[in-house]
Amino acid sequence: MKKEIIISSLNDMERLAGLFGEKAYPNLVLLLSGDLGAGKTTFAQFLGKKLGVKRNITSPTFNIIKSYKGELPIHHMDCYRLEDSEEDLGFDEYFNDGALVIIEWYTYIEEFLPESYITLDIKIMNDQRIVTLEGTGSKNERVVKEIYEEFTD
Ligand code: ADP
Ligand code: MG
Repeated sequence: MKKEIIISSLNDMERLAGLFGEKAYPNLVLLLSGDLGAGKTTFAQFLGKKLGVKRNITSPTFNIIKSYKGELPIHHMDCYRLEDSEEDLGFDEYFNDGALVIIEWYTYIEEFLPESYITLDIKIMNDQRIVTLEGTGSKNERVVKEIYEEFTD
């Protein structure tokens, strides 16, 4: 079941990311889509902040994968540069070492993605953002439902 959340400010985005920080569990994979400037990296930064990451989270466009220490370790990927590549950067390892994984431009590594994940699609509409959430697998469906209910409470 898809859930739509309306984000009207950076503060709303921080609150949404904060809820993900509360529900995050080892090996949770978050797939982020949306145009350049939609707010994917900003969401990752707020999520890292909630999980106590001390380092500054910056866009991994050039490195593709950056890892951080927090209450949960985080792998932050930006697969934009892999558009025309079939290369496996050892993704399986990243999905199975107990970290939270956040992926921007995930459609470029579709063949390497795990079975269960949560997608967040961010669309800019006028001066708001619509974030569409969808979880695969019963656990992720439940997480999405809980986050939706707590956000809109
Ligand atoms: P992406 O990673 O999707 O390309 P970024 O997160 O790098 O996007 O950029 C989003 C930009 O929009 C940032 O400069 C951010 O401060 C700004 N912004 C303004 N309002 C919001 C919001 N509600 N949510 C996320 N980003 C926002
Ligand atoms: Mg980005």
